[in-house]
Amino acid sequence: MKFDYDFLAIGGGSAGFNAARVAAGLGLKIAVVDGARELGGLCILRGCMPSKTWLYMTEVLHLARKAKTFGLRIPSARPDIRAMLARKRKIIGEFAAYRLQALTAGKFDLLRAHARFVDAHTVALSDGRTVRARHILVGTGSKVSVPAVPGLAEAGAWTSDDVLDLDFIPRSVIVLGGGIVACELSQFLRRLGARVILVQRSANILRDHSPDASTVVQQAFVDEGIELFAGTQLRQITRDRRGATVEFVHDGKVVRRRADHLFNALGREPHTAPLQLAAAGVRTRPNGRIVTNRWQQTSAPHIYAAGDCSGPAEIVHIAIQQGELAARHAAGVPKLKPVDYSLLLNVVFTDPQLATIGRLERDLTAAGTPFLAASYPFNDHGKSILMDANYGYVKVIAEPRRGRILGAEIVGHDAGELIHAFSGPLAMKATVRDLLRAPWYHPTLAEIITYPLEEIADQLDAR
Ligand SMILES: Cc1cc2nc3c(=O)[nH]c(=O)nc-3n(C[C@H](O)[C@H](O)[C@H](O)COP(=O)(O)OP(=O)(O)OC[C@H]3O[C@@H](n4cnc5c(N)ncnc54)[C@H](O)[C@@H]3O)c2cc1C
Repeated sequence: MKFDYDFLAIGGGSAGFNAARVAAGLGLKIAVVDGARELGGLCILRGCMPSKTWLYMTEVLHLARKAKTFGLRIPSARPDIRAMLARKRKIIGEFAAYRLQALTAGKFDLLRAHARFVDAHTVALSDGRTVRARHILVGTGSKVSVPAVPGLAEAGAWTSDDVLDLDFIPRSVIVLGGGIVACELSQFLRRLGARVILVQRSANILRDHSPDASTVVQQAFVDEGIELFAGTQLRQITRDRRGATVEFVHDGKVVRRRADHLFNALGREPHTAPLQLAAAGVRTRPNGRIVTNRWQQTSAPHIYAAGDCSGPAEIVHIAIQQGELAARHAAGVPKLKPVDYSLLLNVVFTDPQLATIGRLERDLTAAGTPFLAASYPFNDHGKSILMDANYGYVKVIAEPRRGRILGAEIVGHDAGELIHAFSGPLAMKATVRDLLRAPWYHPTLAEIITYPLEEIADQLDAR
């Protein structure tokens, strides 16, 4: 069989680009095929980077508005949305240009077209070409899902793409959903000055996290004036020229809320339908997610999948690790290790941030795995008190025999940075006592971590 390429990546986002980069380093003949008008992938163009640029700007605004707390006079701290947008576009434009440069640097062919499978080794491109490859990686990402809520599809709801490119400050927005994107962008909209009504189905926002953690974020949202309805059931959405009305059941009563704009943040789904995966013998789950084994191989073993289209998490560093692993596996690199999901790191960039790593209480309890846990609140810690960053806590979870660290949960200011204090130790299987031997500078936010560590060390001594 003759092939045009050793390795073909469908999609040039975090998974596809990094798979191709690694495969190129291993001497394979490679092509990346991507049909987007603008290259760069979700993270750079419409995901992590633009959202974090927006969020940081409104964090600065929020601090400026809190000036009085710090004995400062900043009489008029107001957003200039056009200047904010210009800054965001400039930053994102530079990141995208850098990625485009890497994609066109000559290490692999870049084919700018949409791809679909013809058979297990052949891909048809939207420009009429056909490409045959020995190994193929599917990294086509995800798209916004529109669940079957009456009226939602016709309501002209914003997606995160729209919120990330706003050139005006909306007066009012109803946000549907309580996941990461919903929560991060609700707070952004509120801090810009919009009236925000968040309508969430589960009993808590951020339902993948512990109720303790999400309650802290929920309280901060309420304190900032977000109107929050959790445990709801959406009934009907109607749209007229002046805005949208959402009808839902909350606490057994029918509630109606009206706003100028509606933001669908109900989640994303794998972007796999147009690929005609069945023609290549690639199995998917009912939700379209591609089934893979621990080497990222699909049911057709020479076809790999990585990133949002295969899961299990919609997180960039996971997409990168999976893409890199697939490339190495396809190249026959020996002694590979699968992605270790017991180290899963999660960050929600609300304020306070919510960050977790490793195995947490809910998971360990469900598995019947014994553990020790201890936590300490930020409102009793010197550095956070002087920063008026009092929301939240640090929790450490350890194995009860030797005190090996299993996981950590931090809700608080810069939790997304602080959680990295556990990344190395967890990967190196460190114990609580190992971490207590490390130096912790005073006064820092990070030194709060020593309190739960000490408490677990005491629990271990007492056993
Ligand atoms: C608002 C928002 C904020 C986020 N914030 C974070 C964050 O802070 N941290 C984090 O870790 N994650 C974050 N994420 C998630 C993160 O962006 C994704 O997990 C990650 O970008 C997925 O990478 P990927 O390579 O799987 O897909 P993508 O980057 O989406 O790449 C898929 C590529 O495939 C191409 N493609 C699709 N179909 C075809 C086809 N048939 N033929 C050819 N090309 C095709 C597309 O054009 C695209 O370029 C965020 C997501 C959103 C929406």
